[in-house]
Amino acid sequence: MASQNDKEPVARQSNFLRQVIERDLDQGTYAQRQWGGSPGDAAHHKAGAPDPAKIRTRFPPEPNGYLHVGHAKSICLNFGLAQDYQGTCHLRFDDTNPEKEEIEYVDAIKDAVQWLGYGWDANGTSHLYQASDYFDFMYRAAEYLIEAGFAYVDEQTPEEMRTNRGDFGKPGVDSPFRSRSIDENLQRFRDMRDGKLEDGKAVLRAKIDMTSPNINLRDPALYRIKHAEHHNTGNKWCIYPMYTFAHPIEDALENITHSFCTLEFEDQRPFYDWLLDRLAEGGLINSPHPRQYEFARLNLTYVVTSKRKLKQLVDGKHVTGWDDPRMPTIVGLRRRGYTPESLRLFADRIGVSKADSWIDYSTLEIALRDDLDPKAARAMAVLDPVKMVVTNWDELMGAGHLEPCSAPVHPHAPERGKREFMFGKELWIERTDYEDTPPKGFFRLFPGNKVRMKYGYVVECVGASRDASGRLAEVQAKLVPDTRSGTPGADAVKVKGNITWVGVADGVKAEVRLYDRLFSVPQPGTGDKDFVEEINPESLQVVTAYVEPSLGRAHADEKFQFERHGYFVADRKDHVTGQRPVFNRVTGLKDSWAK
Ligand code: ATP
Ligand code: MG
Repeated sequence: MASQNDKEPVARQSNFLRQVIERDLDQGTYAQRQWGGSPGDAAHHKAGAPDPAKIRTRFPPEPNGYLHVGHAKSICLNFGLAQDYQGTCHLRFDDTNPEKEEIEYVDAIKDAVQWLGYGWDANGTSHLYQASDYFDFMYRAAEYLIEAGFAYVDEQTPEEMRTNRGDFGKPGVDSPFRSRSIDENLQRFRDMRDGKLEDGKAVLRAKIDMTSPNINLRDPALYRIKHAEHHNTGNKWCIYPMYTFAHPIEDALENITHSFCTLEFEDQRPFYDWLLDRLAEGGLINSPHPRQYEFARLNLTYVVTSKRKLKQLVDGKHVTGWDDPRMPTIVGLRRRGYTPESLRLFADRIGVSKADSWIDYSTLEIALRDDLDPKAARAMAVLDPVKMVVTNWDELMGAGHLEPCSAPVHPHAPERGKREFMFGKELWIERTDYEDTPPKGFFRLFPGNKVRMKYGYVVECVGASRDASGRLAEVQAKLVPDTRSGTPGADAVKVKGNITWVGVADGVKAEVRLYDRLFSVPQPGTGDKDFVEEINPESLQVVTAYVEPSLGRAHADEKFQFERHGYFVADRKDHVTGQRPVFNRVTGLKDSWAK
């Protein structure tokens, strides 16, 4: 795994998060802080050394599903900013909910971060943390708040609590339990902890202001009772911290400087600061404490970016799994043929903003093309094959003769060499490359027309035969002698059509999966229909294709540009070199969806 300190910083476009970081670096906001070598309270960090990280960020997923393209944005942002400013980014599993540990999700998240090109090792330390390790501190912080008069145990029913909270137009009403003594609060909180109360019978609440215009400050809940086993702490606890209480504390213990989150947390920021201000005053956490900054979440057209909805697609068998190449999950994108570089490029290009918007799916595809164009080897493939017979081949070239042809592996990188394939009497061509009567502007095969078989000879179409149903069965053409590409006579005959083909003699049969957008509407689930009803019924078409021999040697995960068709990848899961070639279409050569 690459260490965070190995990476070279790159000059990038500024944005409001960079400005915040640069301001803090200029002002030395966090320059005096010490780092205890691991997460901990104020005393732990004070006993440490000056923090070697100029800033600390974190990526804090809840391990309850596979990460999607929105998380990729957040990963690139948090790890990328740390890299650019000689900082450190922590990977923290936010596992404060006593839900069943899904080790599958934890592993997949670690994998996704590493695949994207990031790691959590820095300055010789692994910064991989789990929030449940902080339960003891969180409990201590809760008792501190009670003792300082900032928290109370509320035993109203959930219904009463809801009613008394008020709403946007109506101030809340104080709970009758709000004026309990500190001793009584402490006693009841310990009763909660000791399992003396059932689920839902009491909550610990912050004592702030029931009339605040910000509803999040109307005495938010800090701890609730939940008699449930936790994967990490077992049955030690039957009370668990609320996310809004836990998250700022996790950041503080880890010495995070800049806590980036999505806009829906903006209204939580006053509580984030309130809580950390109280804990800093009490000397429990390091100062100055972390600050939260919000950016717009990524919404990408034609997909959904919510773990819950993605899970629904998997559970409902609308896709083959989390890694179905149509899924916007990181494993799905990877299997589809997206590269880490293309996703980082995408994240860079979309940048960060303070207003929610939808990014067009084509932005992702353009990033992929820009990444793959200079890298991907070229190859010819015929996706809807029909045979073309060269009627004068035996006479001109001799029966059974095969003529070697070649083409560059990459047109702009001659050093990568050539691919070789055979021209012969029978070739596979695309069914749509032939017309009995050419429509206007059609320069491909029709009787009497001459075309170049790319990298091969010029042929003149003489006709075609059809089967009983009228479907095209075979195209016939005559070779025009001495026109092979790369030979002196090649340009003597001028043609308008250039046809891609694969030799029947050396072509390789392959399964090609033509993926298209998963949804047929740009913003699934935002209208009156359920998002599941908006799935594109034609998001997958499987065809039997013929591909040139170089593709017979492709290894799983290798990417290609199939000339005139787009970018393809040998499927990570199903492709077996030399035995079962399976290619996925990543994207076409240009945006065909907008047509
Ligand atoms: P989902 O709603 O899909 O379950 P989440 O926000 O609940 O996503 P978490 O595991 O809690 O998922 O998120 C981890 C981090 O990823 C958070 O910091 C969150 O802000 C960020 N994140 C999640 N979705 C997006 C998105 N669409 N765009 C940008 N960042 C995101
Ligand atoms: Mg979440």
